[in-house]
Amino acid sequence: MAQVRQLSADSPVTEALRAALGEDCVLLGDAVTGRSAGIWRTDNIRAQVLVRPRTTDEVSRAMSVCHEHGQPVVAHGGLTGLVESGLTTEAEVVVSLERMNAIEAINPLERTAVVQSGVILQVLQEAAAEHGLMFPLDLGARGSCTIGGNISTNAGGNRVIRYGMMRDMVLGLEAVLADGTVVTSMNQMIKNNAGYDLKQLFIGTEGTLGIVTRAVLRCRESVDAQPTLLVGIATFDKLVAFLKAVDRGLRGCLSAFEVMWNDYYKLVTTPPAKNRPPLPQDYAYYVLVEAMGADQTLVEAVVHTALDAELIADAVVANSEAQRRQLWALRDDVEQAFQFAPVFLFDVSLRIPFMADYVEQVHASLQTTFPDARNFTLGHMGDGNLHFAIAVGDDSPDTRRQVERCVYEPLAAIGGSVSAEHGVGLEKKPYLHIARSESEVELMRVLKRALDPKGLLNPGKIFDL
Ligand SMILES: Cc1cc2nc3c(=O)[nH]c(=O)nc-3n(C[C@H](O)[C@H](O)[C@H](O)COP(=O)(O)OP(=O)(O)OC[C@H]3O[C@@H](n4cnc5c(N)ncnc54)[C@H](O)[C@@H]3O)c2cc1C
Repeated sequence: MAQVRQLSADSPVTEALRAALGEDCVLLGDAVTGRSAGIWRTDNIRAQVLVRPRTTDEVSRAMSVCHEHGQPVVAHGGLTGLVESGLTTEAEVVVSLERMNAIEAINPLERTAVVQSGVILQVLQEAAAEHGLMFPLDLGARGSCTIGGNISTNAGGNRVIRYGMMRDMVLGLEAVLADGTVVTSMNQMIKNNAGYDLKQLFIGTEGTLGIVTRAVLRCRESVDAQPTLLVGIATFDKLVAFLKAVDRGLRGCLSAFEVMWNDYYKLVTTPPAKNRPPLPQDYAYYVLVEAMGADQTLVEAVVHTALDAELIADAVVANSEAQRRQLWALRDDVEQAFQFAPVFLFDVSLRIPFMADYVEQVHASLQTTFPDARNFTLGHMGDGNLHFAIAVGDDSPDTRRQVERCVYEPLAAIGGSVSAEHGVGLEKKPYLHIARSESEVELMRVLKRALDPKGLLNPGKIFDL
């Protein structure tokens, strides 16, 4: 592990960074500590020095200086990560990619985009649309999160069921290693099996193996129609049967299958929430179904078949873009849970056949430990991914551990994961062993030591060396 020490404006590493990059690139003191430590957090950045490079070369120079001085570094994108993987200490330097926000090229013929890693996701989505393309990654933080953050967390989101996770959308990338070496792997092709696929070292590794500076991304043809509907369902068995029926019936067009448990649906359709319920509030489950590129008549036929078969009890189909957005606004209104702040947010993964019992088990053990607990459940259920927003009245470290045990411990017996898409950071580090074997974690350490022998990149995140 790197040596820990307080940094100041006149420390040798700060001086060296200013000399190597220019004063404009290096922020100090209040300009750094005045920044929020992350979305939905009440604390600020603790690091005292923040570097804002504009090019890969500048990132490389910054890392060379830090390597020479044994200086730990944490990369920052949009700071929308939810697992404390971007948190800093006073001894660390932040490398923020905020000025590396150029879309270098969009190629409609090959359906690719070449971007710097600080590009905001929504900016890329809109730029792709102007070229008749779609960049399929989509998540609630689209307006703030960056492509570099999406890559480093292997972000998932709303359309994984059709297009996969961020890993599936990255054709190539460029990254700077801990010693400043630039690894350029800007592959532009869908297929390239020539040896190791080194980009995977930097996807989903939370900035612990390198700083991603540029990427080649795979886009898709844009679609005109985005039929969207909300259904109410009575039992979990019917929910699972409906997933299969709708996937088959929509002939490859299913692009989202987002489930809201009754507790979450009531939360987001009852004042002070601004949205009203499009369906009555007494169904056990609500599913938001999206079928990008499907014909509306096909969607309606699938709904009628499911109603006739009594798989679903009720349905509302969006008839305009405004109605489509209203349905998505329910799913995206997670912030309503903050009425009951403090709130613990969870993101777990498990096989669908275990889901109903698992959720019951979590509810039951929470009620036993915290009789007044509120637990709002939703998720990208088509991907086996559940989110809980849990409020028990306080957020002391002891309480947090008790709540985490209720959520994470039952996963061990069913082969689930403590992280479906948010990553590990500091928050899930104590529970990594539930999702990964000892040999897997040891191989992670081998890779970390090989690429970053001084332990300078995002130290202490995911696992200890
Ligand atoms: C409302 C909301 C909805 C969300 N929905 C989803 C969802 O559906 N699916 C999902 O997967 N996530 C979701 N998230 C979590 C979050 O948005 C994603 O993890 C996102 O990918 C983080 O991007 P960022 O730019 O904000 O990264 P940051 O928070 O800045 O960083 C996250 C991690 O990546 C590292 N990092 C950042 N940039 C780089 C880089 N260029 N090189 C190397 N390392 C880097 C950081 O060091 C840190 O470890 C949601 C968050 C919010 C607030």
